[in-house]
Amino acid sequence: MKPKEIKTKSELLKVLKPIPFRNKEHKLTVICSLIGHSKISTGCFGYRNCARCGGQLGASLGSIDPGKETAVIINHSKNCKDCKSNYKKCTWKDKIYVKNPFPKN
Ligand SMILES: [Zn+2]
Ligand SMILES: [Zn+2]
Repeated sequence: MKPKEIKTKSELLKVLKPIPFRNKEHKLTVICSLIGHSKISTGCFGYRNCARCGGQLGASLGSIDPGKETAVIINHSKNCKDCKSNYKKCTWKDKIYVKNPFPKN
């Protein structure tokens, strides 16, 4: 049976509530498996990892990283226009349990 698609934050929280998580990492992994990895990611040379669960999203060297065009990369550059405009397109699914990639100083 395929679980129904989670469309809102409150739906997600409702699904998460009864799950006995072993630790925070476990919880974050389950969240990504339910709503997909965040567009917000870490690393920019070589590998790119989900900023939420740490799972590998793609490697820019040699292999395909289909999400790269729409990704926000933490610490990429303070003035990176691509990251900033991509961040504007991020939804709650990308932002939940992910730290703000552009913290205000
Ligand atoms: Zn993830
Ligand atoms: Zn960037």
